[in-house]
Amino acid sequence: ALAGVTKRYNNGTLAVQGLDLRIARGSFNSLLGPSGCGKSTVLRMIAGLEPPTSGTVAWPEAGRPSLGFVFQDPTLMPWRTALDNVALPLRLAHVPKPERHRRAHAMLALVGLSEAAGSYPRELSGGMRMRVSIARALVTEPELLLLDEPFAALDEITRFRLNNDLLRLWEARRFTAIFVTHSIFESVYLSGRVVVMAARPGRLHADIALDAPARRDEAFRTSPAYAA
Ligand code: ATP
Ligand code: MG
Repeated sequence: ALAGVTKRYNNGTLAVQGLDLRIARGSFNSLLGPSGCGKSTVLRMIAGLEPPTSGTVAWPEAGRPSLGFVFQDPTLMPWRTALDNVALPLRLAHVPKPERHRRAHAMLALVGLSEAAGSYPRELSGGMRMRVSIARALVTEPELLLLDEPFAALDEITRFRLNNDLLRLWEARRFTAIFVTHSIFESVYLSGRVVVMAARPGRLHADIALDAPARRDEAFRTSPAYAA
């Protein structure tokens, strides 16, 4: 939960002002708002990468959740294969090699990239690289997944496929998701709640609960035109 969170950067920019936000565990939330309204700043504060100037980011229920972060530009290691990129967080957590390969393979399969396990990032398309980076963020089975405009650079069809991949993963794992996007369609399609921030000065503008998201329409999701 964020309570009265304000962020003023050292250069004086007031990025977020007096933000109150409570995120339910296991929910899928979208964060929407015009460029510069403070969305990335909010994600970084939730991730603990940036301290608020005032107010608190607290985890009242079960303590700080484990975290996965998907950045806008997938920063994969060019000299590592897709498999090794996905396995990297497990390596950093000192998971033994056979176990991390098993889990990284399973994650790649979940995002439909089994075939590309041995490929290097430069050999993959933008959408495939993004799927590798989602797999990498999820391989540690984080309780909270933060996504900062992950699909912004991709074409509409690839984006839609990735939306469905992400939904499938969420339905399987039920992590808490906070998804920053500029796409109203995406926010409605993916989430049970849409939080809208106002341009200036980084305040809450609207908070919309969706009890029947468009995603429930299986016919649309599995239409041959869009199916992966
Ligand atoms: P976009 O949709 O374009 O990604 P955003 O909603 O994510 O925008 P932020 O990146 O959070 O917006 O930025 C909010 C405000 O804070 C902007 O005015 C930005 O210029 C400023 N800002 C962001 N990061 C820093 C920083 N490290 N130092 C100073 N000012 C910053
Ligand atoms: Mg941003």
